[in-house]
Amino acid sequence: MQLRLVRRIGMSLGLVAGLVVVGNCARSDKEAGHLLATTAGLIFSGGRILTLGEPATVEAVAVGGGRILAMGDRAAVEKFRGPDTVDYDLAGRVLAPAFADHHVHLLNLGLALLYRAEPLPTFVDLTGSSSLEAIGEAVQARTRALAPGTWILGQNWSQGAWGATELPTHEVLSAAAPDHPVYLTRVDGHAGWANNKALRSAGIDAATPDPPGGVIARTSDRSPSGVLLERANELLRPLLPVPSPAEIRRAFRLAAEALSAQGVTEVFDAGFLGPPGIVDLSLDLEHYLTNLVETDLESPLPLRVHLMVPAPSPLAERIVADPVRYRHLTPRIGVTHLKLYADGALGSRGALLSHPYADDPATKGIERMSRQDIKREALAALDAGLDVATHAIGDTAVEWTLDVYEEILGEQPGLRPERLRIEHFSYAKPEDFGRAAKLGIVVAVNPDFVAPDDQGLAMEDARVGLGNSERVYAIGRLAAAGARLAFGSDYFAAPPAEPLLGFYAATTRQNANGLPVDGWHPDERLSRIESLRIQTRLWPPGGGEPERGVLAVGGRADLVVLTDDPLSVEASAILGIEVDATMIDGAIVDAD
Ligand SMILES: [Zn+2]
Repeated sequence: MQLRLVRRIGMSLGLVAGLVVVGNCARSDKEAGHLLATTAGLIFSGGRILTLGEPATVEAVAVGGGRILAMGDRAAVEKFRGPDTVDYDLAGRVLAPAFADHHVHLLNLGLALLYRAEPLPTFVDLTGSSSLEAIGEAVQARTRALAPGTWILGQNWSQGAWGATELPTHEVLSAAAPDHPVYLTRVDGHAGWANNKALRSAGIDAATPDPPGGVIARTSDRSPSGVLLERANELLRPLLPVPSPAEIRRAFRLAAEALSAQGVTEVFDAGFLGPPGIVDLSLDLEHYLTNLVETDLESPLPLRVHLMVPAPSPLAERIVADPVRYRHLTPRIGVTHLKLYADGALGSRGALLSHPYADDPATKGIERMSRQDIKREALAALDAGLDVATHAIGDTAVEWTLDVYEEILGEQPGLRPERLRIEHFSYAKPEDFGRAAKLGIVVAVNPDFVAPDDQGLAMEDARVGLGNSERVYAIGRLAAAGARLAFGSDYFAAPPAEPLLGFYAATTRQNANGLPVDGWHPDERLSRIESLRIQTRLWPPGGGEPERGVLAVGGRADLVVLTDDPLSVEASAILGIEVDATMIDGAIVDAD
């Protein structure tokens, strides 16, 4: 991110001239009870200012006390000029509301960035690894410098990258590292790939039963073949080394800075995944939470963070017993949701389908939680004043989650439906698109998942079958039904260089590589303005109408300076748009 600020504006709200009365920043706009400043700290002008409301553009915007004081023509804004007001010349660039991301994994994003900046001898980044041989060689290279018995960890493999649909087996890793336990997590965070030494260390053998909510992939004689799915990973994960508090804190800061550099000022963290990036509810999640809070208290992170804590877990139990203690952990961080997992992911065939997988008829996926479990956890959360977000990818998982939400809304007529969310909603039965809309729950989709390239056949098509393909990532169908849509990137490895990838994918149904040329199921495209509104608005904890997204007097000054206009550039130029500056609560984030 390049800064072109006239002079540095500190993070402290107190530096902005005028009356500053700001509520607890982690609270939503409607709770804040703020008074507006009377003098502008900053006036933006000289470019295209998108309000995403009416009128569509304005000439200038005045910011003070963390809020938008005035917007309109120059005269309307000049009234708020004071002796210390700074002019920000957009120089032909574009000012727009900053972005919100409803689904990221900060810890894992940050650790990936940390290990990329400072490679660890025990960690292998497998992003893009396109052959089993290359992975074997990378692992073997690590063994040379490490004492036997030392764990080698890695993340971000995908069998599609080396042209396979079947999951890998332990042999390549066992041959590369006979004396070192190896554990590598899949790009979806729902499958772990272990070598013999690791499986033996965890006591996993032919006699080990599959745990509830998990599957040990096996050979014909029942011995483990190397991949652990869903909760089977919890058999092995407790043996893994844990990052130090210093690493964890640096990781959180790197993650927040990376998102801020992409124009994001507010996120929902969809749960800390056990390093190296696996959904694991047996972890001591409080340890990570404590480090996140300390990082922010040390020096405020340039991000508001609403935490969704995985349940059932020991931390979720403590939060439900004492929600007030966790609601506002720092001015910008608080626990808002319990995160439940109905199923797994399509890539590793853990998503729960109503039919056998097209490319493995022996399985319909994995039920991580029953309807009864989802309902019990959801009610506990709601009773404690927390909202609920349930991961549901397969059509049966989506159906069951909707069943539970429908029951709860029927039993509690006063409950705001926006307090219930479905994460991903990747594949659904025809009737469930309309049902989600009718219930009024929030559907947090991932437009950037539309990046299918599996040697000509989309991974998703291979899994569900081409005849069902039109029900995968059917975002346009959800929008047409009137669903309350939110966008999430699901970043848990380094974010891509393109800040507007999700917007690009939602509006073109293409991926960063431009495949396929006409977009994947182009009928599901959303309009530019609709996509940008979704990308910038936030469904607030506690329910109610969306906040942010439209520039308005009195609204938070969360803004982004873009090098071009995402509403009007050629589609092919969207990914080339850069974020030149990000402002949160009226303060420009310093790129240093
Ligand atoms: Zn996720």
